[in-house]
Amino acid sequence: MGVDEPLKEYSQKRSFDETPEPRPAAEETGLSRFVVQEHNASHLHWDFRLELDGVLKSWAVPKGVPQAPGVRRLAVQTEDHPVSYIDFEGTIAPGQYGAGTVKIWDKGTFSLEKRTEKEYLFALHGERLSGNYALIHTNGKQWLLLKRK
Ligand code: MN
Repeated sequence: MGVDEPLKEYSQKRSFDETPEPRPAAEETGLSRFVVQEHNASHLHWDFRLELDGVLKSWAVPKGVPQAPGVRRLAVQTEDHPVSYIDFEGTIAPGQYGAGTVKIWDKGTFSLEKRTEKEYLFALHGERLSGNYALIHTNGKQWLLLKRK
């Protein structure tokens, strides 16, 4: 694997003989799907993932994805995940990276309106989440996730 391997960081953090999580594989489905996974790990958080570039672009949202307009939530960018992770639910054993339980909290599709290094504008079409959202890059791995009015 070269240094440009897109899922290298994902792979380096995990032992695939020890975790039920999917092995890394690039997969271009042409779909624009999102998922929010409730991850009850050392700290409860919600992982927000958008299917883009053959991977799931991922952010950990400590307080959950906002459902009301104007609410801003910190979203910390995490390593790209394989597309097949979009269906993952299960228990990651103690001692493994991200140990705890993962449950799908919402999933659906999104429409991307704008994407730059600083900003993603998109609409979510899920069961719990719908409407116009933005991810705004603030500093380092930190972004703000908000529902637009
Ligand atoms: Mn997580």
